[in-house]
Amino acid sequence: MGRDRIVRYLAAGRSRWGLLEHDLVRECLVEPFERLELGADAGRLEDLELLPPVRPTKIICVGRNYPAHAAEHQSEVPSEPLLFFKPPSSIIGPGASIALTPLSQLVEHEAEMALVIGRRCRNVRPDEAWDCVLGITCANDVTARDIQRSDRLWTRAKGFDTFCPVGPWVVTGMTLGDVSDLAVTARVNGEVRQSGRTSEMVFGPVDLIVYLSTVMTLEPGDLLLTGTPAGVGPLEPGDLVEVEVDILSGESL
Ligand code: MG
Repeated sequence: MGRDRIVRYLAAGRSRWGLLEHDLVRECLVEPFERLELGADAGRLEDLELLPPVRPTKIICVGRNYPAHAAEHQSEVPSEPLLFFKPPSSIIGPGASIALTPLSQLVEHEAEMALVIGRRCRNVRPDEAWDCVLGITCANDVTARDIQRSDRLWTRAKGFDTFCPVGPWVVTGMTLGDVSDLAVTARVNGEVRQSGRTSEMVFGPVDLIVYLSTVMTLEPGDLLLTGTPAGVGPLEPGDLVEVEVDILSGESL
């Protein structure tokens, strides 16, 4: 299977799935989790209003999965994956604005590679874990750092509306090897703030899916944010923040 780029977009007020070919989008007639069945041309990418390329039932995140990021917060790398949720209501699509909140004085970016689950699965074996993944996309695990520090649980700090920008598309057809050493970058106003590689992750995709699926059923479209490299930092009103995972060829949030 080749690599495909799956988008969602608005057409006549309704959300549609699409396949991006160069700068043109073709409508997908069925959900891309089932199969690729293509319809008419939908138009040029730049003329479409893109939506988040996923509709997850849950967004599962991994904390302190890059040693250099754990160290910048004087935290140990956990011996088992440190999991938390972001609510699906926090998702925004490519180009949409993060709303800073007056409840926090320190909202920070966290660039992450996100895995998109492609099939319903539970109690997954290591050798079948990657088959449960449809593809990858970029995510920003936006965090109200001061609230994260003051609250025992991270629900508020991670859960504000707009605190989960994702996209611009899902790249399918990736092998486990393909995602094992990708650059993960965050830029703020064009300046590189985070620059890590997925090879630094303590728990890789297979570890995470096996561990998670012993707890909960994963559904098509669920998102797994795999942790952020070092260099997280504050966002100010008017900043432009971009997240890039290098397979996406320079195209970013
Ligand atoms: Mg994170």
